[in-house]
Amino acid sequence: MIATLPDLQKRFETFNHAYFGGGLQPVPLKLSRATRSLGACTYKKRRKLFGGLEFYDFCIRISTKFDLPENELEDVLLHEMIHYEILSKQLKDTSAHGRLFRSRMKEINERYGRHITVSHRFTPEQREQMAENAKPVWRVVARVQLKDGRVGVKVLPRIEQRLKAYRRGLRFSGQVQSVDFFWTDDPYFSQFPKSSALNIFFPTTPDLDTHFSAAQLLTL
Ligand SMILES: [Zn+2]
Repeated sequence: MIATLPDLQKRFETFNHAYFGGGLQPVPLKLSRATRSLGACTYKKRRKLFGGLEFYDFCIRISTKFDLPENELEDVLLHEMIHYEILSKQLKDTSAHGRLFRSRMKEINERYGRHITVSHRFTPEQREQMAENAKPVWRVVARVQLKDGRVGVKVLPRIEQRLKAYRRGLRFSGQVQSVDFFWTDDPYFSQFPKSSALNIFFPTTPDLDTHFSAAQLLTL
């Protein structure tokens, strides 16, 4: 399940009523494209007139980059709601997930059978997805223009001889107008397998060329 705003809004209200005694003020909920965390409770800090800090301008953000089971997504929202509760009530905690946070978490888990955790336990697939999202992967991608007007894609190994062999092989087929190689970190191209095989992928994406326009043309 991937978070949507109306759904988050509904669950926030339900949980506020059921687990927080209706004590939370409405807060902006937003979707994020965070790739290394599932949720966040953001806020600003200001110095109070007579000393101490005050937290304000809260927002709960939930990432849409992960597909989680419903109950886990709810627990992510609840985790952020505990942060929001502590911060918006200007309560002091020993750290971000300090004693107060943990006692509220434990209380909700025990009373309502939830499984909120301090940090989400990612599955190996989710970790892989995160690693993939986090660091740019650079690829050599061929843009293949056919004589019939179609444009195809091929992700190739970064070896000059293989690139030349691919271009030579395609030209030999007689259907190819041009083969251009690009160097790009656009994650769009992660969907295509990398190999030296003489094949071409024809994605249905209508804006294929926008992915090439940001890429660096290689001359060889
Ligand atoms: Zn947290």
